[in-house]
Amino acid sequence: MANKTQIDELKITLLNRKETILNNVRNSRENIDQLKDQDLNDELDYADFVSDSFTEGMIANHQLDELNQIEEALKKINAGTYGICDMCGINIPIGRLKAKPFAKFCTECRTVYEQEQLKRVAY
Ligand SMILES: [Zn+2]
Repeated sequence: MANKTQIDELKITLLNRKETILNNVRNSRENIDQLKDQDLNDELDYADFVSDSFTEGMIANHQLDELNQIEEALKKINAGTYGICDMCGINIPIGRLKAKPFAKFCTECRTVYEQEQLKRVAY
């Protein structure tokens, strides 16, 4: 089980990551705003603009998703339930938490979960 020092370290990692994502999202919003201010009369420019904002959107969505997971992990740290697998309730090994501080599942449950997701996509 992760001890207090290890959890404190992971909490700092999570908070730093959260800050990085918030900065990234803020920057990409500014980039899009700057693009919007430019003249988009040229058809080619417009195509570039659309694909850029599409990519920005994809990246932002991915980052917001990660942000949610970070928030959940931080809530769990405060509640004292951090590092416990959501599915089977065992303590997630510290090595796994260090690699992925917002991990919700232990390695075994993660595998099961991913297989379930794949099945859902197949339907
Ligand atoms: Zn588990």
